Amino acid sequence: MVEQLVIIGSGPAGFTAAIYAARAQLYPLMFEGFQQGGLPGGQLMTTTEVENFPGFSQGIQGPELMREMRQQAIRWGTKLITDDVVRVDFRQRPFTIASEEMEILSQAVIICTGALAKRLHIQGEEQFWNNGISACAICDGTNPLFQDVEIAVVGGGDSAAEEALYLTKYASKVHLLVRSNRLRASKVMQERILNHDKIQIHWQALPISAHGDEVLRSITIQDQKDQTISELAVGGLFYAIGHTPNTQIFAGQLELDEQGYIKTSGKSTATNIAGVWAAGDVQDHLYRQAVTAAGTGCMAALEAERWLAES
Ligand SMILES: Cc1cc2nc3c(=O)[nH]c(=O)nc-3n(C[C@H](O)[C@H](O)[C@H](O)COP(=O)(O)OP(=O)(O)OC[C@H]3O[C@@H](n4cnc5c(N)ncnc54)[C@H](O)[C@@H]3O)c2cc1C
Repeated sequence: MVEQLVIIGSGPAGFTAAIYAARAQLYPLMFEGFQQGGLPGGQLMTTTEVENFPGFSQGIQGPELMREMRQQAIRWGTKLITDDVVRVDFRQRPFTIASEEMEILSQAVIICTGALAKRLHIQGEEQFWNNGISACAICDGTNPLFQDVEIAVVGGGDSAAEEALYLTKYASKVHLLVRSNRLRASKVMQERILNHDKIQIHWQALPISAHGDEVLRSITIQDQKDQTISELAVGGLFYAIGHTPNTQIFAGQLELDEQGYIKTSGKSTATNIAGVWAAGDVQDHLYRQAVTAAGTGCMAALEAERWLAES
């Protein structure tokens, strides 16, 4: 049996693609993941309050939002397999998508495998994740925890500069911890952070542990030059050290950019292989939001529907 459409990944992009494709009677089959590249349900399963997804005026818990999306996809007839895809073959149609347990053939594929925010795995990180430690300023900056307190941001690239600038709206002061003795951010961003009166840069500094009670209160920093240790009283620690897109199983078959994100063409979600689309964070290192992931999931399903009707 050959499926019409297989969707890989069950974050906001995957479920939105599934809802649109199921309503278009493509009977999509989704591999919702298991252990690779995060959790079934995606990154929002690891957070608490989501305050910026439209339609929830009082906010919604991340896992609850994902449960609702899953139910909506099932209601319209999406078939779910709770397993990881470990191998694909896009060289000929129908395409092959395989887990450890089974091999599926499909005319079309939408990839929504997302990306993982890199973490430092410092001591105390698990304890204070969502209670002071975060990897997304736009998602969490407005949290009352971060209002008028000092905050640390780790990283030296454009994302770190953007996060630091964004957080100056809420924090009393932002400490930018840069591992080396130079910034990788663009000249314009460098000037903006170097001249900002709320931002202090700590060169060759790296956090090594986090401390507090119910919430984060301070971090221990190690000087990377002479290994000396110091304490910094902060109510927030934001990682801005990059993301890893979940694209390892597509390498060699799909065109990826230098950071490993899937390349899509122009305004569409089309990859370099006809019949394969990519939506959500796996192809987006700029916006990385649930609503943009959902938006591109919708685009991918509409593009797949048109393409299947014509081919
Ligand atoms: C802590 C945290 C808080 C956040 N808060 C917000 C917020 O408040 N608002 C907001 O808009 N955004 C927020 N974001 C960002 C948002 O979660 C992402 O932009 C969004 O989830 C991306 O959706 P996605 O569908 O592209 O991928 P993801 O949500 O990353 O989902 C990827 C899916 O692919 C699956 N997968 C991966 N590899 C495989 C494989 N080999 N086989 C099968 N399945 C696979 C995973 O299991 C997962 O289900 C937050 C992110 C984090 C980490």
